[in-house]
Amino acid sequence: MSYKILLKGFILTMIIIVATQGASCQIPGSAGQNSIPDVTPREAYNRLLNTSIEIAYLDTMISLSNWDQSISMPPNATEYRAKAQSYLVDQENKKWIDPEFGRLLSIANNGSNWSTIEAANIRLWNRDYNKKIKLPPDFVARESKMASLSQAAWEEAREKNNYSVFQPHLKAMVELNKEKARYLGYEEHPYDALLDDFMPGMTVDKCDKLFDVIKPQTIELIKKIKESNETAIQNIYGNASYPEDKQGEFTKNITSSLGYDYGSGLMVKTNRHLSTYSIGAHDVRTSLRYEEHNPEDAIMTAIHEGGHGIAYQRIPDEYYGMPIGTDPGMDMAEAESRLFENNLGRSRAFWEYWLSQMKKKFRPEIDNVSLDDMYRHTNRLNISPIRLDADEVSYILHIIIRYEIERDLFDGKINVEDLPMIWSQKYKEYLGVDITDDKNGILQDVHWAAGYFGYFTAYALGSMNAAQLEAAMRRDHPDLDQRFASGDFSIPATWMQEHMYKYGAIYDTPELMKKTTGNEAEAYDFLNYLNSKYKKIYNFK
Ligand SMILES: [Zn+2]
Repeated sequence: MSYKILLKGFILTMIIIVATQGASCQIPGSAGQNSIPDVTPREAYNRLLNTSIEIAYLDTMISLSNWDQSISMPPNATEYRAKAQSYLVDQENKKWIDPEFGRLLSIANNGSNWSTIEAANIRLWNRDYNKKIKLPPDFVARESKMASLSQAAWEEAREKNNYSVFQPHLKAMVELNKEKARYLGYEEHPYDALLDDFMPGMTVDKCDKLFDVIKPQTIELIKKIKESNETAIQNIYGNASYPEDKQGEFTKNITSSLGYDYGSGLMVKTNRHLSTYSIGAHDVRTSLRYEEHNPEDAIMTAIHEGGHGIAYQRIPDEYYGMPIGTDPGMDMAEAESRLFENNLGRSRAFWEYWLSQMKKKFRPEIDNVSLDDMYRHTNRLNISPIRLDADEVSYILHIIIRYEIERDLFDGKINVEDLPMIWSQKYKEYLGVDITDDKNGILQDVHWAAGYFGYFTAYALGSMNAAQLEAAMRRDHPDLDQRFASGDFSIPATWMQEHMYKYGAIYDTPELMKKTTGNEAEAYDFLNYLNSKYKKIYNFK
């Protein structure tokens, strides 16, 4: 399965934290606002844009270095590379926290008659600048140190299969993030500040409303699937060997047909992390893994990561260097990938075309596989204690469990000491799964060890947004399935470009969803998508 962390941006976040340890941060006061400005708001904007472009160049080289590190850097290069990279990140951070940046921003804030793009850039500069200066340098240093200790403890705890090794570190990470939420500020719930950091505009209130509807209905759907008489073939690929080069050619055919531009992107084999990096204009890099006996893994990962890549490749060129030259948030980035992977890549019409192509490519291995076999196999239920092994239905419950735990931790309703018990209770209650050990339970994800609280929720919201986007796309293109069946896969990327990609980060995800689909993320389309699909596959009412 391909529910991978989209590393883009978040590795950067971590390195920025590391690098600021040594930075001599001057917090700009309000002097800039009181003194007589020597430049007009327009000139201030232009200077901010120049700095923004320089920051983007540094970002490009840092991302390229990250990519190299995750794909091909020799292991002995780690130490020196960390220093070089830290220097670049430090340079970038100095530009951000330069008092002159704050002064120019306050001048630009007094301007008027900005275009939509300019106004969005100013809004995002303010947002990011304020976040950076709100966090005191000593806090940033403490967080960075604690995050690396905590990740080491998490690894040791996993090795020993013992949560108690990790527990004090997790407690410290939660306390640090409570402190962070206080610095960043929030209106209702401390967890709002953390959600907003990954998904601007998202709150506990919004998530609660969505998940309160989705949780019981998903549990009910799983029950119906389990009770149905239809069963999916667990392994349609047998024990045959599916050569890597053929898998590579096949995944390239699929992703190209969906709109991934190989002139502006690479998909490269790795044995390390799977991820997609947006390096800069016309430069997207994805790493893939090939399983010899199971081509599904590479195919679905390529479609998912390809969905991220297509979105980055289609951000307008002129946005690069501007803060709008990215996605609006993780909840949109994950929607862009999940739309392709799940809603489209696991549809019957999609396989109506690709199964016949696949048979030709891997002859005679899957000659006897029917379209129904493939469709059902691609949408088989896999109730597991492990999030990354889960199917698309039960996956949502894995996320809701993590969301509820994070929310209640930051509300002070529960303590880290009780987490293994709470984890087991929720897995039993929502998924009927017995958690037998820490490694396959609470220690399975690195997110909390790295201090990523609020990140998981984006996976679920991404699925909801994807269903809503699919429904809107199908309203505009009722013939989508016929086109797919005949081998034409051009509509989704073209439609997404017209409605989503072309805006970059001009709008937050909730605003953009409202603009395109009429509503912010809501439960209806997602539940409708799951229910109608699984009802057909598993033949229940
Ligand atoms: Zn992703």
